[in-house]
Amino acid sequence: MLSKMLSKIVIANRGEIALRILRACRELGIKTVAVHSTVDRDLKHVRLADESVCIGPPQSNQSYLNIPAVISAAEVTDAVAIHPGYGFLSENADFAEQVEKSGFIFIGPRPDTIRLMGDKISAINAMKTAGIPCVPGSDGHLTEDDALNFQLARDIGYPVIIKAAGGGGGRGMRVVHSEATLHSAIALTRAEALSAFSNDQVYMEKFLENPRHIEFQVLADEHGNAIHLGERDCSMQRRHQKIIEESPAPGLSRTIRNKMGELCAQACQNIGYRGAGTFEFLYENGEFYFIEMNTRVQVEHPVTELVTGIDIVREQLMIAAGEPLGYQQKEVHFQGHAIECRINAEDPDTFLPCPGNITRYHAPGGPGIRVDTHIYSGYSVPPYYDSMIGKVITHGRTRESAIARMRIALDEMIVDGIKTNIPLHRDLMDDATFQTGGSNIHYLEKKLGL
Ligand code: ADP
Repeated sequence: MLSKMLSKIVIANRGEIALRILRACRELGIKTVAVHSTVDRDLKHVRLADESVCIGPPQSNQSYLNIPAVISAAEVTDAVAIHPGYGFLSENADFAEQVEKSGFIFIGPRPDTIRLMGDKISAINAMKTAGIPCVPGSDGHLTEDDALNFQLARDIGYPVIIKAAGGGGGRGMRVVHSEATLHSAIALTRAEALSAFSNDQVYMEKFLENPRHIEFQVLADEHGNAIHLGERDCSMQRRHQKIIEESPAPGLSRTIRNKMGELCAQACQNIGYRGAGTFEFLYENGEFYFIEMNTRVQVEHPVTELVTGIDIVREQLMIAAGEPLGYQQKEVHFQGHAIECRINAEDPDTFLPCPGNITRYHAPGGPGIRVDTHIYSGYSVPPYYDSMIGKVITHGRTRESAIARMRIALDEMIVDGIKTNIPLHRDLMDDATFQTGGSNIHYLEKKLGL
């Protein structure tokens, strides 16, 4: 029934996530179309896909972000649906809308949901209505009235952060420590937001000084069912980029997990959410504060898959085919601990991207070790895209066991010809503070002396 509705899909992405989607499709008997740029014809999933279509030159804006090219590829191959993966067009409401208007299934939420969550002010309002705890802040966007803004900041308490409603990728925000710089910070963020996101609306939030990043994975179908798959701790970050994620979050009680997870699942029902999604929170002094919702599959979804045994990409496909969720909340069980290390093609000291030819590659293996990567010996990492070349994910009965297995995996893994951040991950697995667990989002940068 499923393979009938979703007989063939276009994978509108590249790299490890494209391969991950291809594998889920094969398991379900769905035919695949890989769309790729000229430099990506040798990607593993392009070779494995039933069909492939070259959609443009290497630059993303002329290929992976080229909406007409992606939709035409679906038309010429008679595909019925498009999976956007993460990044690229995955959270572009206009894309989702055009996909649907062209008669295809968009494997993700409804376009209006993507739009609602894409604007941070409307997202926060929707979350407040759904009873999700948010960061204390302005009620909607700031006006030009200085007296009001000064009063608001005094009420919230310094430091505050000014954020662009249309912001993303860690851009469009400014921390303000005292009244002296508030006016200029608002004006600057507004001007930047207008040029970067074509939307000059900004809002104010309390700036949390030492939070952890904890997020909840949800799944919702179009029949009104929604469940949560627990949380992930993604506090190991550099420049707001996650580099290690784990599940469960160290020290979080089962009661709190269930309470927060259920709130998120309920919020999905409130907003008519469809598909896989993630509620991101900052967590400080035992309190959760919603910051944003990601309306797509995330890089770190495998840690949740390992502790729940649920294939999130498979569920995305089933939901898109109109099937009811394959699980009820009471059937979701959490087992053991999982950790993911993102492997980047970059210099471990300078963090500069390090594209080039991989002369030799050996994958790690053994109990509790999963590797999601598209690389192979002889593969050349192009300089045009994100530097992540794969993920190593380990699972064990305990966090200690997951760490021990990660250490084994990182020691076994050989990627020659380019530099990677494997040495940094090895170092972190041996780091006493990381081993204790529960570090805040600044820990990694402090350790690196940044
Ligand atoms: P983006 O969409 O650009 O990723 P987010 O709203 O998710 O923006 O915030 C990105 C990061 O900025 C957060 O992970 C956190 O490190 C920091 N941040 C955002 N809001 C706050 C806040 N109120 N207090 C402290 N840090 C914040």
